[in-house]
Amino acid sequence: ISKGFRAARERLTGKGELSEDVIDAALKDVRLSLLEADVEFRTVKKFLRAVKAKALGEEVQLVAKGKDGKVRVRPEDHFVHICHEALVELMGPVDTSLARANKGVTGIMMVGLQGSGKTTTTGKLARKLQKEGHKVMLVAADVYRPAAIHQLQVLGERLGVPVFARPGANPVDICRDATEQAAMEGMDFVLYDTAGRLTVDDALMEELEKIESSVHPANIFLVIDAMIGQDAVQTAKAFDERLELTGVVLTKLDGDARGGAALSIKAATGKPIKFLGMGESLDKLEDFRPEGLAGRILGMGDLVGLMNDFQDVVDEEKAAEDAEKMLGGSFGMDDFLQQIKTIQSMGSMKDLMDKMPLGSLFGGDLPEEVLEQAADDRELVKLEAMIQSMTKKERQDPELFLQEAARSTTPAHAKLTRRKKRPKKAKDPSALGPEDFVESRVRRVARGSGR
Ligand code: GDP
Ligand code: MG
Repeated sequence: ISKGFRAARERLTGKGELSEDVIDAALKDVRLSLLEADVEFRTVKKFLRAVKAKALGEEVQLVAKGKDGKVRVRPEDHFVHICHEALVELMGPVDTSLARANKGVTGIMMVGLQGSGKTTTTGKLARKLQKEGHKVMLVAADVYRPAAIHQLQVLGERLGVPVFARPGANPVDICRDATEQAAMEGMDFVLYDTAGRLTVDDALMEELEKIESSVHPANIFLVIDAMIGQDAVQTAKAFDERLELTGVVLTKLDGDARGGAALSIKAATGKPIKFLGMGESLDKLEDFRPEGLAGRILGMGDLVGLMNDFQDVVDEEKAAEDAEKMLGGSFGMDDFLQQIKTIQSMGSMKDLMDKMPLGSLFGGDLPEEVLEQAADDRELVKLEAMIQSMTKKERQDPELFLQEAARSTTPAHAKLTRRKKRPKKAKDPSALGPEDFVESRVRRVARGSGR
């Protein structure tokens, strides 16, 4: 996706060190990449300065693997890491908490342009709060379009959450009365779904200000459509000037938008991004994680998310032990089996591969059928079955397994197997090959009589 960023990385590949010239050239590519991702140009400048200072200031490790056997980071990877870190820093700190009112019902006011996703996000938040065990009320404060009230009522019905609506009344009065009723009914949260306009206008801002000073909501969330790209900054600024925004929700990130708007909005308003809208349905609301969005802005996929998944299941000590065993040559089939299981417990291969930046590795998006084949979980299952069919001795010494395979197949194949070469093609089609042996072992396991 991100040509500029890939170019930057390639520019650094094979370079001995990150000299100022080299960094400057790479940063030009990164600049292009960020502008493509809809980051506003002033924010881009700020980012580039931060990265350059970091890249020059840090001692760079040169080789992939040193003579002492220790693994070091290559300059291009180091540079990627610095960029990623700088993005995370600029978008952070993370704060996805909701402010609570000192006493009584807590207000959440949703504001934003028309079509940005206010009503949808109101429903998503209500669902989330409800799941956490809170009592929630929705308020239809967008009275100008009858369809808007109906839309909220439908959401409320689906969630089993009360909706306060009074068509034709003044939105300020509606919000005030709704708050009173919510308090009386012992609600924990009241969510105000306000009106939007196609562009920022004064009448709208005045109305929102009046609602704010009438109900004093503990949270005011600006909802912004990530697809509007660079315009997000002006919109965010306009709302921030008039209202005490407490956070931002960026929606429609399930589309093509790379999400650079998040960076610009944070830079322009200083307000934290709270949640991300990842689809139209009510469960598609995610807590904001700068690491994930940073990877996306750089066009690297959700690498960090993947690393986190991995850390969840891999016992670090075990990993270090494995590495030592591998280097020492005593890495057995049992260890290998353990690793396969680890990979399987992380979810399907397809899910995993979706998170990897495969497109950027191969210089473009991979064809779907290639991805599907590579992600075929059945290959893993087969391998696991084969290993499970081995005896304990064979697992420790796979050579024994190969020898038995050789014995139980025809001589021509046995010879090949012992030499560990792959047989080209059976001359006698009825001859048993090593694959047949493996198949039979696999079938034995499948029947439940393995080992
Ligand atoms: P509002 O005018 O601000 O209240 O916006 P709506 O909540 O009515 O949303 C406008 C349109 O955007 C609707 O068609 C929603 O289904 C859609 N929408 C809202 N959030 C998302 C999202 O995160 N992803 C996608 N793909 N669509 C969304
Ligand atoms: Mg709406």
